[in-house]
Amino acid sequence: MTSAVETTVAIVGAGASGLTLAALLHRAGVDYVVLEARSRSYVEERQRAGVLDHYAGQVYVKAGLTEPILGGAPTDSLLEIRYDGVARFLNIPELAGGRHSYVVPQQLLVRRLIALLVDGAADVRFEAAGSRCPLSLCAQRRPHDRLRQHFPRKCCFPTI
Ligand SMILES: Cc1cc2nc3c(=O)[nH]c(=O)nc-3n(C[C@H](O)[C@H](O)[C@H](O)COP(=O)(O)OP(=O)(O)OC[C@H]3O[C@@H](n4cnc5c(N)ncnc54)[C@H](O)[C@@H]3O)c2cc1C
Repeated sequence: MTSAVETTVAIVGAGASGLTLAALLHRAGVDYVVLEARSRSYVEERQRAGVLDHYAGQVYVKAGLTEPILGGAPTDSLLEIRYDGVARFLNIPELAGGRHSYVVPQQLLVRRLIALLVDGAADVRFEAAGSRCPLSLCAQRRPHDRLRQHFPRKCCFPTI
């Protein structure tokens, strides 16, 4: 059995990119759905990045999301590089014209984005695709048409 939902934007994947796009669309009032193959706990615990570069950080700053997404994250200062057993320190902000990166584990970033979206009653669906839950997206050909998505009812978690 399948259920269908109509939306303007379908985002496949609740990684840092998909969730960030969802947060921006949410603030802009554009409707969307995020479809993630993995479980919420898997996505939240998956260890990856540790440093968010200056320009990526500015995406959240400019969207007014500094506190909920970057709050408490220290900015980088000195980068230690060891060569021939000797430590050398690079002052990254100084070398980068005052720009600095944020030291923030990706799983924390992802957890915060999910919390922000879920608190805002966003449509984020986990375990929504995969071999046992095929997902098909059917978009009409004309630009700006809304997407109609069909997926098995068992993959739908509307109250997340
Ligand atoms: C060990 C490691 C260290 C790293 N360190 C850094 C660092 O310090 N700084 C930095 O900037 N970057 C770093 N990176 C890179 C960074 O982690 C990636 O650039 C980032 O994860 C990309 O995010 P994304 O949302 O594009 O993709 P992903 O995080 O891969 O998210 C994609 C999501 O889509 C889901 N998905 C895939 N296919 C489907 C489907 N068909 N249907 C539904 N869902 C689907 C996946 O389950 C996943 O959750 C590191 C990466 C690794 C592996």
